This record gives sequence, C-alpha cells and structure tokens, in this order.
Amino acid sequence: MRKSVSLAPGLAIGGDYFVVMAGPCAVETRELLFTVADTVAAAGAAVLRGGVFKPRTSPKSFQGLGESGLLLLAEASRRTGLPVVTEVMDPRDVNLVAEHAAILQVGSRNMQNFPLLREVGRQRRPVLLKRGAAATIDELLHAAEYILQEGNDNVVLCERGVRGFDPATRYVLDLAAVPVIKQRSPLPVIVDPSHGTGEASLVPAMARAAAAAGADGLLIEVHAQPEIALSDGKQALRPAEFAQLAAELRRLVPLVGKRWARGAAVGADLPTIDTFDDQAIAP
Ligand code: PEP
Ligand code: MN
Repeated sequence: MRKSVSLAPGLAIGGDYFVVMAGPCAVETRELLFTVADTVAAAGAAVLRGGVFKPRTSPKSFQGLGESGLLLLAEASRRTGLPVVTEVMDPRDVNLVAEHAAILQVGSRNMQNFPLLREVGRQRRPVLLKRGAAATIDELLHAAEYILQEGNDNVVLCERGVRGFDPATRYVLDLAAVPVIKQRSPLPVIVDPSHGTGEASLVPAMARAAAAAGADGLLIEVHAQPEIALSDGKQALRPAEFAQLAAELRRLVPLVGKRWARGAAVGADLPTIDTFDDQAIAP
C-alpha cells in the first residue's frame, strides 16, 4: 500500500495527488516573500516553500533570517492559505520550526545527520527528506527509516540531483530514482528540478519530465527578482515563468494519472501588498 501524507483537510502528498511546492530559496524580505507567495498561490501551487535556516557552502554567504523569517513564513501562510515547508538544520530548532511550518525539510547536506533525523521523527509534522548529493537511493531509504523508527511515518522523499562530472548542470537530476524509490518504498517522492539543474531555463523541461516519471509533486524555486536573490538566483523562475509552467503542468498531470492538488488560495482574491513596515533584515 502506498503511503499518503496528509497536510490539511483535502490535501495530501502521495496517492493520486500531484503537489507543487514553490517559493523562494530563502526568505529575504516581507515584500519579496509576499509577492512570490501570492503568485504561486494564484498559479495553483499547494505548498509555499522558503528557507530561513540556509545551509550555505561559505559561512560568509547569507545564512537566512532565522526565527524572524519563520514569522514571515507563518504570515505568508495565513495570507495565502498555503501550508509552508521550510528547512531545519539543527536538532535544537526542530520544535521552533514545527510551531510555524506545516512540513519540516531536512536538506541534502543533512540527509545523514542522524540526531536531526531522530529529532524530526519525534515530532508530528510531516518531513520532506532530500537525497544527499552523493547518497545512493539505498542510503536515502535508510535515512528515512531513522525518522520512521521514532514514530513519524509522514515522510516524503525528494530527488534533487546528485553530483556528476559535467558543469553544464549544477547536479545530475536522477529521474530514474522516482520509479526506483517507488519499487522499494511506499513513501511519496517529489522532485526538485531547481537544485537538480541549477539553471532556471532547464527547470520547466525537468519538471514536466518528473511528472511523467511518476513523481508525486515538485519543489520549485521562484523569486520576484532573481538577479538580486541572496541565494540560488540563477535557478529561480520568475513569477510569470512559474505561472506558465504551472498552467502546463495542470494540463499534463491528468494525463499521467494524477490529480492536481489545489492550493487553498486558488480563485481567491488575494489582498494587495500595500504595507511593508520593512521588517526586512539586510544580509
Ligand atoms: C533548498 O531546498 O533550498 C536546499 C538547500 O536544497 P538542497 O538541500 O537540496 O541543496
Ligand atoms: Mn536553494
């Protein structure tokens, strides 16, 4: 029996549903977050993403807004009606993140951070576990077992590319991982074509391919102004590009036997963004 991870009444990952999670790599300012949140909600994304604890290669790079970013995400979630997914890096932050987010993301760099896996296994929010960039599928499935073993079986796996030798793409998106995981595990699996390619112009093709390969959803980075993004701007879709991709996917998804999981805000009148009391925190 395939596992389906329930997010909200009428919204689950796995089973028949195709769940698109979209938003900025990192929460930067309230204005940028709300602009993207409104766009992805209106385009029919089911979940809003945004990082506030960022795993950056260099300690000098923007590390994320931390707790104040979580509050912005919670505000954006109330505003759009979309549940939020965000990364937690430190076992000591798990309870804090679980207070504000609907799904806890364990990033690729932490796929084998066993204390973190155990800690997210001890709380009740669903967990999005990303495959390590040099991890085998077997290692991913064993990592998921650490979470399951603590009593949390609401785990969604994510293929986000593995390290290859060709700099034409940032990583090698392993789409065969989708059917392989489905053969070996009942857990839902989604695909992240943004990190998987590292290049916005490649994201739509890989998103469509992931849907065709049987993925249960997608994780896509969107930024209102990619050229000024504090992280991963190169791979971020602009709002209009995301809306276009979402429209294409909504036509494709029924052809591969899935139902588009509707975001709460579809069709709703979103409030206009008029007040920004610049809680934005400079990098
Ligand atoms: C992310 O989703 O923003 C992220 C850092 O992804 P990954 O862990 O796959 O690199
Ligand atoms: Mn990113």
